[in-house]
Amino acid sequence: MRLGKLRVEPIYDGMLWLDGGAMFGIVPKKLWSKVIKPDKENRIRLGMYALLLFTEPKILIDTGIGNKSDEKMLKIYRIDGGHILDSLHFFNVTPQDIGIVINTHLHFDHAGGNTWQYNDEIKPTFPNAQYIIQREEWNAANNLNELTQASYLKDNIETLRDQVKIIDGDEEVIPGVTAICTGGHTRGHQIIKIASEDTVGIYLGDLIPTTLHLPLPYIMSYDLNLIVTLTRKKEVLAQAAQENWTLFFEHDPIIQSGTVVYQEEQSHLL
Ligand SMILES: [Zn+2]
Repeated sequence: MRLGKLRVEPIYDGMLWLDGGAMFGIVPKKLWSKVIKPDKENRIRLGMYALLLFTEPKILIDTGIGNKSDEKMLKIYRIDGGHILDSLHFFNVTPQDIGIVINTHLHFDHAGGNTWQYNDEIKPTFPNAQYIIQREEWNAANNLNELTQASYLKDNIETLRDQVKIIDGDEEVIPGVTAICTGGHTRGHQIIKIASEDTVGIYLGDLIPTTLHLPLPYIMSYDLNLIVTLTRKKEVLAQAAQENWTLFFEHDPIIQSGTVVYQEEQSHLL
């Protein structure tokens, strides 16, 4: 697909199933289960889609869950992942072709493909890439606490150290591609704004993970600061509706992108 004159493609890594209650926070099951059916363990199906930008150099935003999930994770989260390299291959892109990786944050379902397990060895998946990460996020991943330790895996960052570029706050990565630190989900969570000619796209990461999270109170209970998420979500949706931005939903199992309009103080996907 195209944004202005730039080619961009959602890149499929796989599916996982997360607890429906945790995914919709304060929203009662009676409401959310009308729009998505949970399995018998109350989990809902979610996609993992990175975004490939055909810029110079090529940029990959997030890397899916990768191939390092252990048996316990595979079972708890019903993971079918690690397809990102095959998906890139479909577009004739090799791991060596990626010059920049931007991580929205370092949770295992977003940064799992940062590194790859080959037999007993774990190596950076993209040997020529600089990995762009917010300082707050890097610090969080390296200083875990009881609330965060289940979401970060050290194998996703440990072998990366020589390739990491730490940034502080909003930063233009290359002309037209800007990392915007939103906080909320994690303190170092960032979304990515992609502008080409008059067209703007926003890769939302976990700010609005699926189209079902467009209604304002639908916020994941994983978020460390719900009020920050709510504030940033309002800002982004207002501007997206006004300026017809294309939104990219990382975790939606069906809809990878779309635009929004305001309708009676609620936004709906077109
Ligand atoms: Zn996350």
